[in-house]
Amino acid sequence: MRTSTVVIGAGHTGLAISHFLSERSIDHVVLERGEVANSWRTERWDSLRLLTPNWQTRLPGFVYDGADPDGYMDMPELVRFIDGYARFIDAPIKDHTRVLSLRRTDDTYQTITENGLWESPTVVLATGAFNRPDVPAVAGLVPSSVEMVTPHDYRRTDQLPDGNVLVVGASATGIQIADEVHRSGRPVTLAVGEHVRMPRLYRGKDVFWWLENSGILDERYDEVEDIVRARHLSSPQLVGTPERVTLDLNYLTDLGVRLVGRFAAVSDGKAQFSGSLLNKCELADLKLGRLLDTFDEWALTSGWEDQVEPPHRLPATVVEDSPLLALDLGDVATIIWATGFRPDYSWLDIPVLDRKGNLKHEAGVVTESPGLYRMGLNMLRRRKSSFIHGAGDDARDLTEHLAAYLGVGVAA
Ligand SMILES: Cc1cc2nc3c(=O)[nH]c(=O)nc-3n(C[C@H](O)[C@H](O)[C@H](O)COP(=O)(O)OP(=O)(O)OC[C@H]3O[C@@H](n4cnc5c(N)ncnc54)[C@H](O)[C@@H]3O)c2cc1C
Repeated sequence: MRTSTVVIGAGHTGLAISHFLSERSIDHVVLERGEVANSWRTERWDSLRLLTPNWQTRLPGFVYDGADPDGYMDMPELVRFIDGYARFIDAPIKDHTRVLSLRRTDDTYQTITENGLWESPTVVLATGAFNRPDVPAVAGLVPSSVEMVTPHDYRRTDQLPDGNVLVVGASATGIQIADEVHRSGRPVTLAVGEHVRMPRLYRGKDVFWWLENSGILDERYDEVEDIVRARHLSSPQLVGTPERVTLDLNYLTDLGVRLVGRFAAVSDGKAQFSGSLLNKCELADLKLGRLLDTFDEWALTSGWEDQVEPPHRLPATVVEDSPLLALDLGDVATIIWATGFRPDYSWLDIPVLDRKGNLKHEAGVVTESPGLYRMGLNMLRRRKSSFIHGAGDDARDLTEHLAAYLGVGVAA
């Protein structure tokens, strides 16, 4: 089978690209190993809600039109939203079609699937950035008596044995799971490394209202000082709940969760934690202060100053005087590794990965393999690239590049 563009993945980024390809009458197919929005259907825990508000959950030509614009979608609602988009744009999806290998001969890509071969001059990888939990090697030293769980296996608390739980990682995933597990009666210790602290509401508005309106989310990859760092920034400590709570470390400490430093090693059956907890928390507090300063300056210059509540600052993160540096793993029933995710390129048979297994690309254009594109990575082209509403601008830009590569004219 031949087509101009093969899009791999029918998550929202694959669909956004499909929308712009159709707009330019570029024939294409979207190959999906499961169903539309497969990651949200199969790889998330039951209580998860988006941490971005409903009004911001939008795709090209398609906006949230429900009754709760300030709320946060749960997974069934989000799957319905993305499914609705696939129907709205009439995307040419071949579902239950896993890509087994992507190769290149001369100017043609060969996409080998479980249902046959596709040949095309261009391919868009929209396979997601969070395909595999990124568990550190030290996990291999944990005694077998401890149950180990990743966010991909975790669904709800009753699947965990009773007893103490060590959650490793304090980004959005780690703090949300720590909260829920501690409330289930399983005492939680939370290992905290570098993290991004944010209030749910600031001056009466959702933090994403500030991030979007002040232009921070539109910052481009070529405008930031350190792109490698920006691409590896962890997700902000936020949760989307109807109560719009700020789920930060102080909130968890008040609940009874014990904070320790970064999980560094296992020795003599004990987990060893770094002594950097206070530093990491002070750094996060400092960066939060700077972010709020930026919001305040923007409010003054944009005319919003009188329409939002007065500025305020959050109390510093409270850290014990001598946080625990070691924990006997004989006393731990479960470790939850909320240490991040990685993309899976095991099926990519084109030499475009660096030593660390990351795709080499220039803002989504894989320059070493002309005609190959990537969507959906952190800070791909803009700060908002990894968020649902960020897909539209990236997809438009990359479709423009792809169309020029194919020699196709301007959009109809
Ligand atoms: C826990 C979590 C919470 C998040 N919360 C938010 C949030 O609140 N707001 C927000 O805006 N963003 C959020 N994100 C980030 C972002 O929206 C997701 O990462 C999003 O899923 C990325 O979209 P995508 O289309 O690139 O990837 P995905 O949605 O992962 O889609 C990729 C698709 O490719 C398919 N695929 C993969 N490999 C193959 C193959 N070999 N063959 C065929 N098909 C394949 C998959 O089945 C999948 O359907 C969150 C991410 C995570 C992990």
